[in-house]
Amino acid sequence: MNDAHSVYLHIPFCQKRCSYCDFNTFSGLNHLIPAYIHQLKKEISYYGKKFSKELPVKTIFFGGGTPTLMEGKLFKSLMEEIFDNFRILPNAEISLEANPGTVTLEYLQNLLGIGFNRISFGLQTSNPVYLELLGRIHDHYQSIQAIQWAKQAGFRNINLDLIYGLPGQTVDDWKKTLENGLNLSTQHISLYALGIEENTPLHDWVEKGMVENPDSDLAAEMYELADQLLLENGLECYEISNYYKVDENFDYRCQHNLQYWRNQPYLGLGAGAHGYSNDVRYENVNGIMEYINLQKDANLSSALKSPVVKVLTEIDLFTAMQETMMVGLRLVSEGVSILEFTKRFSASPLEIFAKEIDLLVNNHLLEIVDGDIIRLTKNARLLGNQVFLQFVD
Ligand code: SF4
Repeated sequence: MNDAHSVYLHIPFCQKRCSYCDFNTFSGLNHLIPAYIHQLKKEISYYGKKFSKELPVKTIFFGGGTPTLMEGKLFKSLMEEIFDNFRILPNAEISLEANPGTVTLEYLQNLLGIGFNRISFGLQTSNPVYLELLGRIHDHYQSIQAIQWAKQAGFRNINLDLIYGLPGQTVDDWKKTLENGLNLSTQHISLYALGIEENTPLHDWVEKGMVENPDSDLAAEMYELADQLLLENGLECYEISNYYKVDENFDYRCQHNLQYWRNQPYLGLGAGAHGYSNDVRYENVNGIMEYINLQKDANLSSALKSPVVKVLTEIDLFTAMQETMMVGLRLVSEGVSILEFTKRFSASPLEIFAKEIDLLVNNHLLEIVDGDIIRLTKNARLLGNQVFLQFVD
């Protein structure tokens, strides 16, 4: 019997590329959307058959790119394909990422009718100067409007993505974005520290001295401020950069991302998507045309591996244990349970990683709570990467 999986669908189309973005996404190719969706449905059906249509699925996530560039009817046909091919569990979380500049009330009502029960808006910043610098296609008023429409349409589980550490950004400016975000009263907020990624216009501008290189100490201060403000406003931190509204009737944590952080299996479908299932990690080809062509001509019924997979890596037991520590420690209160880990791998993390855990505990970067939970200390949150690296060979 298969463990419950999550399903991620990558929609690699954007109206315009943002200046900081290095995701696998393309602008100017929207005419390929119908052909891409046609092939995406074939990939869904390939995995459906592979698991004899019995794979239990607990979350579905449409990410990108900008999924909301797609017409509602394409979402509907994808959703039908998913429900035809997998066993979607009751109360499954079904999310999508949305760009505030691409939605209307009617469109959002339609999405809710199709079955989405969570929506995530890339608000990023409320400052028009930074929205311009980042190359976003929306202004802050459109973000406010989009969230009001989402609520009006009936969405009760809404996330905002906010980005900090922008070139030249002051702590005060970030505070305004946080306050404006909090005023929208959503159930979830995700924080992102801006990274200057190679091969992006922003990287170029920084290299040429046209914009300031963001200051990492200031970014750390911004994180601390966000943590304080979000907590004061009733949100709780459950992952280093993710906050949710605690409600006794509903768990507003992102169930899809929890699946990743708990190192549980998921299928990644679409160009550039990654998956982890049955002790194998895989990576699909990146290009949209490559994805379409490789699948168009393949005989999927006899294929042992999906034709769009470019890298397959078997994950041995020790690697799975390392990965479980690295991703699990991101969960700031849940951490990694010694009991759960031992049940899963038939070995205690305290034995397998005795040296690493001792060192980190002695340096006050990890703590062991109630004899079971290994987790980051509060001070270690900003040093997370240093901690995670201890679990790499
Ligand atoms: S909308 Fe999102 S995915 Fe598209 S270019 Fe901008 S940041 Fe990247």
